[in-house]
Amino acid sequence: MSTAFSSTPALPVESSDLVIVGAGIVGLAHAYEALRRGLTVTVVERDRRPVGASVRNFGHCCVTAQHGELLALAHRSREGWLRAAADAGLWAEEAGALVVARSATELAVLEELRDVRGPDTVRLRTGAEVARTLGRESAPGGPDGVVGGAFLPEDLRVDPRAAAPGLARWTQTRPGGRILWGTSVTGVESGTVHTTRGPVRGERILVCVGHDLDRLFPGAAEEHGILRCSLNMARVVAPARFRTHAAVLTGTSMLRYDGFTATTAAGPLAAEITAHSPELTAIGANVMFTRLPDGTVLVGDSHAYDETAAPFVDEHTSELLLEAVGEVLGAGPLKVVERWQGVYASSPSGPLLVRDLAPGVRALSVTSGIGMTLSFGLAAASLDGTLPATAG
Ligand SMILES: Cc1cc2nc3c(=O)[nH]c(=O)nc-3n(C[C@H](O)[C@H](O)[C@H](O)COP(=O)(O)OP(=O)(O)OC[C@H]3O[C@@H](n4cnc5c(N)ncnc54)[C@H](O)[C@@H]3O)c2cc1C
Repeated sequence: MSTAFSSTPALPVESSDLVIVGAGIVGLAHAYEALRRGLTVTVVERDRRPVGASVRNFGHCCVTAQHGELLALAHRSREGWLRAAADAGLWAEEAGALVVARSATELAVLEELRDVRGPDTVRLRTGAEVARTLGRESAPGGPDGVVGGAFLPEDLRVDPRAAAPGLARWTQTRPGGRILWGTSVTGVESGTVHTTRGPVRGERILVCVGHDLDRLFPGAAEEHGILRCSLNMARVVAPARFRTHAAVLTGTSMLRYDGFTATTAAGPLAAEITAHSPELTAIGANVMFTRLPDGTVLVGDSHAYDETAAPFVDEHTSELLLEAVGEVLGAGPLKVVERWQGVYASSPSGPLLVRDLAPGVRALSVTSGIGMTLSFGLAAASLDGTLPATAG
């Protein structure tokens, strides 16, 4: 694929207020927020365009299902996304999310969340309403049927394939903004980022390399227990009647986001899902899907955790996910257009790693699968010095 990004200024370049390592959504959200605050910024990226976790995901800013401090950060991020979308011409739709409930237990989780957050934030839906939104013939009830659901209007949808590239374009056309593509960082110390093209100097340095933190700062990565989480994903042709741009989540999603898991009703859910879908449980499935602006649908995903990600995309795992999505949509076999593996940083120690590694050098990685959701809130809070205590 050709890229508009390949022109990279020759080194040396003049020193910046901020040097950011990594042109994923976390690095670019920091670049955006820093440029808004009048700082000069140099982003250093080893690839020729963004190809990491930030372009491989669902583009779901999953605001409502966050909990505690991360809920506040997600709300701040939502504002940031909408502002950045307006400034940089990105597709960001206030399309919300639809959570499909297919059992009384799943519905109980949504009802409890509604009680906590209020009926405007968690809008309960009947089975028939959910079926209509999905473009299904009917809501048959029973083990595979839709018994109800909830619409979460505060969730946002962005286009994962266009958001980071669009922000990168905006960054490099702003006065004071610059991106060095095809430039690998080999080491970082106060005031200097060492790269394969020579040193890059800055007052402050932010290392936003996601799961690859262990390549640059293995001690900090090990201390936080960073693992690589690999996920099977596919893009499919949308069934004819499926139209919504809302992200669609299911019962398996209720096991993954703290807003759901914090409900007492979620207690029996894991056992229930394991009993009726042991294979989905075994692959760590979060059966969900989102629609791209071109109409095709991103479907996924599975979760496998390791220090080094296995390179192979298991076909049986992909088939299980496609079948599960097909069931929710009440559709026949889905036609796959593309498959890929995504990898993000994960940690049992907590969802955020924020470490000051040397004077003026900070590493920031989102260590759970919510980096698209949090990126702009994280960037704003990190630049304003108001990061939540959760950031470990
Ligand atoms: C399949 C999948 C689905 C997901 N779905 C969602 C979702 O719907 N909603 C949500 O909120 N989150 C989702 N996530 C998580 C989200 O995508 C990540 O948390 C987020 O993209 C992380 O952003 P990042 O900038 O840290 O990482 P990346 O996008 O991976 O960027 C890191 C960048 O650093 C660069 N880099 C690394 N080392 C160096 C070096 N030495 N020198 C120079 N550059 C370097 C890399 O090339 C890369 O461009 C999903 C993730 C995956 C994989």
